[in-house]
Amino acid sequence: MPLHIVVCVKHTPSTIAVDVDSATGQPRTAGLVFAMNPFDEYAVEEAVRIKERNPGSTITALSLGPDADQAVLRDAISRGCDAAFLITGPEVLGSDSYATSRALAAAIRKISEQKPVHLALFGKNTNDGNSGVVGGMVAAWLDWPGVLSVKKIQAIDESAATLWRMMEDGIDVVKVGLPAAVGTVKEINEPRIPSLKGKMAAKKAVIAKWTAADIGLKPEEAGAAGSPSRLARSAPPPPRPAGLRIAGATASEKAEKLVTTLIERKLI
Ligand SMILES: Cc1cc2nc3c(=O)[nH]c(=O)nc-3n(C[C@H](O)[C@H](O)[C@H](O)COP(=O)(O)OP(=O)(O)OC[C@H]3O[C@@H](n4cnc5c(N)ncnc54)[C@H](O)[C@@H]3O)c2cc1C
Repeated sequence: MPLHIVVCVKHTPSTIAVDVDSATGQPRTAGLVFAMNPFDEYAVEEAVRIKERNPGSTITALSLGPDADQAVLRDAISRGCDAAFLITGPEVLGSDSYATSRALAAAIRKISEQKPVHLALFGKNTNDGNSGVVGGMVAAWLDWPGVLSVKKIQAIDESAATLWRMMEDGIDVVKVGLPAAVGTVKEINEPRIPSLKGKMAAKKAVIAKWTAADIGLKPEEAGAAGSPSRLARSAPPPPRPAGLRIAGATASEKAEKLVTTLIERKLI
């Protein structure tokens, strides 16, 4: 059954976590190398696997960010996406999660007008903003069902999907009507490395660009103007207290001291 999947990908610094400048509230990104947000690789891979199981399906990659973020969309194409849109321009920059999700939802609505979208896929979170809320917010803007923390897409056709949602103590098996927004986790698959053919396609691909106006947003609904969040304070975590070094002449002496210390501290 051919499906149309939109996968949302963000271009983020290739580090585990990004420092935030406490004065400006913005991530410190100068000098950092950017790549696809690691969690979004799993969402792209899942879209490609669904396409492989459902011949004739198409995948549209979607991102919001500055012009340089075309690179993340080329990466998505090299991994198997068919088309890509970048929401960009000065009026969308400085977007918080609310404005980002609103713009992504407006773009998905516009993409759906050209070819109905069955599924919008998201990563678990980004390694810079790191809120993990954008997929759920997009679902709310579109009035679609939203299921996050999905570790398996067990079955999918044009009208419904059966999903395994990770819970702290197990899984929920959820059946949702489509279209739906689905957030994935890294347990869902093992992303493949882009093929040479994919890289060639990515080089030649035309990345379509949309401004806020192109997706029907008013100036006050996009970017900094459409972002209600204000960072009040940002502080680094407190330094870790010095550890305790257990000394002893032999391994058994050290082990004995360690056990005594743990008992004294009521840890065992
Ligand atoms: C006042 C304010 C101003 C900000 N200004 C900027 C700024 O100028 N530049 C900036 O980069 N960040 C900025 N941020 C951070 C920015 O809001 C978030 O990074 C962004 O909204 C996404 O939220 P998140 O990173 O928490 O995404 P999460 O909710 O953690 O992401 C979940 C998933 O949503 C999708 N997703 C998230 N963001 C995008 C995107 N941009 N494009 C496509 N898919 C996406 C991905 O699939 C991702 O895995 C600002 C934040 C605030 C509060």
